[in-house]
Amino acid sequence: MSKKVAVVTGSNKGIGYAIVRGLCKQFDGDVYLTARKEELGQEAIKSLNSEGLSPKFHQLDITDQASIDRLRDFLKSNYGGLDILVNNAGMAYKQASTAPFAEQAEVTNNTNYFGTLAVCEAIFPLLRPHARVVNVSSMVSTFAIKKCSNEVKEKFLNTKLTTKELSGLMNDFIQAAKNGNHTSKGYPDSAYGMSKVGVSVLSEIQHRQLSADPREDVIVNACCPGYVDTDMTSHKGHKTIDQGADTPLYLALLPPGSKSPAGNFLSERKIKNWSQ
Ligand code: NDP
Repeated sequence: MSKKVAVVTGSNKGIGYAIVRGLCKQFDGDVYLTARKEELGQEAIKSLNSEGLSPKFHQLDITDQASIDRLRDFLKSNYGGLDILVNNAGMAYKQASTAPFAEQAEVTNNTNYFGTLAVCEAIFPLLRPHARVVNVSSMVSTFAIKKCSNEVKEKFLNTKLTTKELSGLMNDFIQAAKNGNHTSKGYPDSAYGMSKVGVSVLSEIQHRQLSADPREDVIVNACCPGYVDTDMTSHKGHKTIDQGADTPLYLALLPPGSKSPAGNFLSERKIKNWSQ
């Protein structure tokens, strides 16, 4: 049997770095720390090496299709599949950012939603039976969906929504932000919140798809890591990165044959109804 393998996106720092650290300690297989900037990735590898851990490195920019395809081809030829995928990479503008909302909506969603989707579309065909996928979303998706008009909310929470339709809704939000009419169209004033609504809904769609997939026991879940002390929160979060990594690690390491959680959203290892 081929060696098992795990990939964590955006793991040169923050929660992703701690997820790699945890997988190196708990997962019986190769663990790939990935980063869009090779240099930062190699520095992170060195730092984990100094703790006696041996993650491997592969470059990955989730907004660059060529980069995603290179990782897919690498995994295919070296491992013939994938056992754990943690979609952790993400970005957020600072609250004090003066970048126009239209720009924030486009850039944030292109990374957090469309980038995550592009990774999944390329890499899901490689998932082996018993694979685990963890999409790092946020409780902010709860605040954002609550602020949507009933009409918008219904569209996002339609249990028959397809990925294509979800991407259409995400693009509609971005376009509305560019037109300056996103609030009158029923969207909230949160580029990051909407990007995580996209990730939370995407996880539910992926669960429906994977449940119908002939590959056995492939589970996808979304989660919120909590409020974590990272660059993203300007180090205001109260959790350490290892505490933030706890729920993603729990989901990545769900034992074979687990029935629940599956297709859920979790916080503190507990299933939450993120959309209410
Ligand atoms: P950090 O800003 O510390 O780390 C984000 C990581 O994502 C970095 O490695 C960054 O790389 C990487 N990244 C950004 N854009 C890309 C890209 N295009 N391709 C590949 N990697 C990319 O954030 P956190 O660790 O705090 O966040 C990790 C995840 O957790 C995110 O999805 C975030 O939304 C989510 N989250 C965080 C919370 C918190 O309190 N911190 C709360 C709820 C959710 P680089 O160094 O090159 O920028």
